Amino acid sequence: MNIQSYIKHIEQLDKQYLWHPFTQMKEWTEGPPVIIAEGRGSFLKDISGKWYIDGVSSLWVTVHGHRKKEIDDAIKKQVDKISHSTLLGLTHPPAVLLAEKLVRIVQNFEGKKLRRWEDKKFSTSQPLNLSTSQLPDSKLRRVFYSDNGSTAVEIALKMAFQYWRHKGVKGKKTFLTLNNAYHGDTVGAVSVGGIDLFHSIFSPLLFKTFKAPSPYCYRCGPGKKYPSCRLFCLHEMEKIMKEHLKEIAALIIEPLVQGAGGMIVSPPGYLKGVRKLCSKYGILMIADEVATGFGRTGRMFACEHEDVSPDILCLAKGITGGCLPLAATVTSEEVYSAFLGEYKDLKTFFHGHTYTGNQLACAAALANLDLFKKEKTLNRMQKKIDLLKKELEKMNSFSHVGEIRQRGFMVGIELVKNKKTKEPYPLEEKTGWKVCCRAKEKGLLIRPLGSVVVLMPPLSISHQELKNLVRLTAEAVKEVTG
Ligand code: PMP
Repeated sequence: MNIQSYIKHIEQLDKQYLWHPFTQMKEWTEGPPVIIAEGRGSFLKDISGKWYIDGVSSLWVTVHGHRKKEIDDAIKKQVDKISHSTLLGLTHPPAVLLAEKLVRIVQNFEGKKLRRWEDKKFSTSQPLNLSTSQLPDSKLRRVFYSDNGSTAVEIALKMAFQYWRHKGVKGKKTFLTLNNAYHGDTVGAVSVGGIDLFHSIFSPLLFKTFKAPSPYCYRCGPGKKYPSCRLFCLHEMEKIMKEHLKEIAALIIEPLVQGAGGMIVSPPGYLKGVRKLCSKYGILMIADEVATGFGRTGRMFACEHEDVSPDILCLAKGITGGCLPLAATVTSEEVYSAFLGEYKDLKTFFHGHTYTGNQLACAAALANLDLFKKEKTLNRMQKKIDLLKKELEKMNSFSHVGEIRQRGFMVGIELVKNKKTKEPYPLEEKTGWKVCCRAKEKGLLIRPLGSVVVLMPPLSISHQELKNLVRLTAEAVKEVTG
């Protein structure tokens, strides 16, 4: 079969047998798909040989670039030993060593000892050398694995609920979440979501939650301005906490950036304020760092920016450098110890997925974390974050660019029909989608969130590639919006 026939063959089979995520399949079957054959660094190559910049890190996961030798080698080495055995009743070195490493990294931002994990000199083979009793109970110390961001969130919710049961507090059976929140697509994660477009159809299936306002300054509900608003949205959040304290088991939040809600960057002090409120009202704080974790915001975790330590931390996406599915829900010793008891007490956390703590994924994650240190990924990112900011500023004058939001390597360019009134483009005009189609023709793969064009390059992207990424995006925006 020659290459052209092979491409046709794959395309036809795709259209006949596959159902793609978040995709209107009627439209999909009408056009030719991009069929990815290879990746290298910040680039993806399609089956016909055309190269594209991977402008969204293959859905926000790629950290050190595609086909990173160290990660690939770690996976291959692990394959030669074993690819998978269960964590139910057994254990294995990759899961154990990774758990220890994750706790160490998280401890760094809790202890405020370090701004950046990679600056710390320690040997990964050394034990933590701190007994549990030496640490305050609120420290994040326990790692529970799963396979993806949604399950990391489900686990956090169920842990928080069950924690209060074990504490003898019965009424705490709901959650406080935010408008525009996105925490995944399983039913529990959708229940704590706040994006009508994705979530409203499922509303009859969902459990009740309370919704606090989103810190979306560009479209502030009460029409206030930061900083004179003095974080009015926290005021609203506190009202809900006060009124429903007895029902709220935990608050869940995407720290600093509400990703899928449109790359909504919270104003300074907001996250710290949320932490303070949770502590004040005795509500567990779940930080969903599925998107923001592993360097995305310029620090290892977004919570670091405001010296915030959650009670439960959800991690996924970048944890393996973007190579294999893995997630972790990290909890404090306080939460964990509430589940200890005799078998007959039935305090066990009855939850677990078949591939929980898979060896290959854990081996990839260990290599990923070593690379952060070896390549000083976070330090090297800082100049690129500034460059990205400078390049993006050029789009500020565009007549349909309403706002450009950036936190580290998370960018949302909100396109509007009318810049003065902030009137949004109607959904059916598919403006964001059209910009991404135009970018694709130019050799850039990006995905929109409604009318928000998202840029999420791999952390390893070079200065020149970063410039090209923004230039191609700007051209596409200009050509589509005029
Ligand atoms: N939480 C956040 C903040 C996310 O951005 C996502 C995915 N974009 C998820 C959870 C769900 O992760 P997954 O798609 O791996 O289930």
